[in-house]
Parts: sequence; C-alpha cells; structure tokens
Amino acid sequence: MKALCFTVDLDRDVNIQVPGKAQAGSLDRGAGTEPRFSSSEKGLEVLLDVLGETGVQATFFAEGRTLETISSRGLSRHEVGIHGYDHEDLTSLSGHDLRMSMSRAVAAVRRVVNRSPVSFRAPYMKVNDAVLCALPEFGIKYDSSEYAPLGASILPRRLPCGVAELPVPEGLDSSGRKIAAYLWPMHEGKRQPEDYVRMASEVRGGVFVLATHTWHMVESRDRGPMGAAEASKNAKNVQKTIEGIIDLGFEPTTVSEAVRHAEALRG
Ligand SMILES: [Zn+2]
Repeated sequence: MKALCFTVDLDRDVNIQVPGKAQAGSLDRGAGTEPRFSSSEKGLEVLLDVLGETGVQATFFAEGRTLETISSRGLSRHEVGIHGYDHEDLTSLSGHDLRMSMSRAVAAVRRVVNRSPVSFRAPYMKVNDAVLCALPEFGIKYDSSEYAPLGASILPRRLPCGVAELPVPEGLDSSGRKIAAYLWPMHEGKRQPEDYVRMASEVRGGVFVLATHTWHMVESRDRGPMGAAEASKNAKNVQKTIEGIIDLGFEPTTVSEAVRHAEALRG
C-alpha cells in the first residue's frame, strides 16, 4: 500500500506556551498572549477548499476549545481526532488534569461533529508513556505525535498500552538539510512543494503523513497575517504538494483508515 494521510492541527492561532499556565496562548502581536482563533477559522475554510479541489479526505486533530469557538462547517466529510482541550503540554499535567483535558476534548468533538474521535496528536508533539497509556481510556486507538526517519517503508507500529503510532516522517533534503513532513517552513516561504514531494518519493510502501495547521494558511508566524495574494499562493502550494504526492501513486486516506488497512495487510 501507498497511502497519504493529510493531517491538520486545528488549534488556536500561532499557539505558544505561556509561563505558569497550562492553557496555551497566541503569539503576542501587540495585544498580549490571549488566545486568538480568527486565523484558524479563516484558514480552515481555505484548507477545506483545497481538500475539496484535490478530493482528499483529511484527518483534523482538533483542539477542543478551538472547535467550540470557530465555525466548523465542512468538517463532516473528514476524520476529526483530538489535540488537547486548551492546547496543554499534556506531559506536564497531573494524572487528574490530563484526564480532564482528554475528556473535555472528546466531549467537544462529540458535541460539534457528532462522532467519537479515535485519533490523537499531542499539542507540541509532546507525549510520554503516561499520556499514551491514558488514550485507550478515552476510546483513542491511533496516535500521530512522533517523528520517524524517512525510509522506503513507513508502517504503523504498536506502542505500549496498545495504541498504534503513525509517525510524521523526517529526513534530509537533496542538499542534506533536515526536513520534516510538516509544511510549516513552506508557509513561511522557506520551502517549496517539490521538497515534500521529493520526501514522499523515497517511500516505496506504507503511509506518508503530511501535517499542517489551519491558521498557517492565512498567518505567517514570522510576518503576521498574510495579504490576499500571499494567502492564495500559500493555498496553491499546499494543493501542488498534495497533487504531487498523489501523482507518485499515494492514495489519500485518513489516519484511522490507513492504520486499519496497514494492519489488515499485515494479518
Ligand atoms: Zn497544536
């Protein structure tokens, strides 16, 4: 099998950790670090258009509060997993607070999209055994919070406590520089679609996970909100990346479907 999982962290704009608080803030653009959601909401619409154009069913890892705050029309044809409730560093929480965050995140998905989530990505990609082993208590079967070396074959693996890990690949580009399958540098103007297509071309079998954030479709971390022309070019780049990888023979699918398929093949 050759599957492309397009994954999206649906979280507050340019999220940052705020000292002394479990709840994440947004990068201070002059009015403090209170969380903002407008780029995330606008970017979701842009991304849903790109996914519609390319016929891709994606997996959104939705942070509970963001999901409850923004308009989430259009998510119904995609998988919706969880990404914390307040974008907490879950590894820093007590067992009680970790479970509070998980159960509020699950409840938000149930309320907003009327389905029970089965997939998870940790805020800041930070997990430990306590977090991973709490996931099954909340019906979560699939995790995508780790990076793994790019290679000819990328398959899900079982973690302690029974969760299946579908990692985000990372490797080296043609000039020997480190590259991960997170589109972050492309949104900042530092990478081209071809860089990610080349990464995927190294994978002969298994699942290529590509990742991004909704807010990053319309707001640069370094330069602030994008103008219309920049946002449109940014969306076109995402579309080119997806189409380039599909042209290599990858079939787009969700995280839960990809793991089920890979495990069925393995028998
Ligand atoms: Zn996040």
